[in-house]
Amino acid sequence: MVKSFGWISLVDDSKAEKELILEVKDLRTYIYDEDEIVLKILEGINFKLYKGETLGILGPSGVGKSLLALSILKLIKWPGKIEGGEVFFKGTNLFKLDEESFDDLRGKEIGLVMQNTTGGMDPLRDMTYTTGQPYKVHAEDEPVKAEIKALVVSQLGKVSLPQPTETSDKYAHQMSGGENQRVKIATALMNNPTLLIADEPVSNLDTTVARMIMNLLADMKEKFNLTMILIAHNLGVIAELSDKVAIMYAGKIIEIGDVEAMYYNPRHPFTQGLFFASPSIAPRGKLKPIPGVEPDPRKYPTGCHFHPRCEYAIEKCSIDQPSLEENEKNHFVACWRTKDIPKYEADF
Ligand code: SF4
Repeated sequence: MVKSFGWISLVDDSKAEKELILEVKDLRTYIYDEDEIVLKILEGINFKLYKGETLGILGPSGVGKSLLALSILKLIKWPGKIEGGEVFFKGTNLFKLDEESFDDLRGKEIGLVMQNTTGGMDPLRDMTYTTGQPYKVHAEDEPVKAEIKALVVSQLGKVSLPQPTETSDKYAHQMSGGENQRVKIATALMNNPTLLIADEPVSNLDTTVARMIMNLLADMKEKFNLTMILIAHNLGVIAELSDKVAIMYAGKIIEIGDVEAMYYNPRHPFTQGLFFASPSIAPRGKLKPIPGVEPDPRKYPTGCHFHPRCEYAIEKCSIDQPSLEENEKNHFVACWRTKDIPKYEADF
């Protein structure tokens, strides 16, 4: 067992037999503005993901969750830049691949469902083109149209779209948000990828459609033993689908662990604040907001980025930045005062 780190490992003996799919080491992505001022959007991101596991990434808007997904796939364009770190996919260092080799992986071995319901969909192309494109691009021989059509119809049926043949002829604007989202998942899974990255797959959807999409993802995960990164800002969505959970704040992972530990014993004051600010079935009075706002990435506070908002802050917190340390088995927290902070009483 690795207990603490320069980079985090959630390895324990029980995971020793599992296939390591993704390893992110000290990933740093910055954005430059016109004045060349660096925005440190991602700072020192580390995690490992094993075959069949889902890592849920939670955090408020603007903390770098989507940029993390794009960084893993090396889809960051100027003024963004991957400043450092490594990403290993099934043992291969992705950042050392040439563009052609990376293109062979994207959409084949690694699928991406982009944020918002029509994100990544060409309004001028029908669903046969959209969903069939990953297959066409990665096929060894140019597939004939009828073959693509048959595969697309089958794929649309797998994500429970009614009348998949008719749907394959439609355009994005002719379908509901939920239908578009299912098409995007079908497209991302077209080549049976090993890893699926789903960025906010149920945000902006009404409750019943969101439930359908969550059931679909759970189903796909079980059927294909999919490894997933699921990005969301909804505690319930993450709890239901994830094996591990990472909390991001101001460009860093500030707490990460197995889902039970994270929900029943959150230790970072920001993570606890998320729970206190979220509705619960159990009556517990008024919700308690986290004071203040997320810091501007141009001028993150010194020390712990959360210290101006933290009720437990001490002088050291504003000077030295804490790194993730093991609090309990497979549960790491970046806080100087982990041992002093009262336990959060879960009420769900
Ligand atoms: S390190 Fe200090 S400021 Fe940061 S979360 Fe812990 S107690 Fe709060």
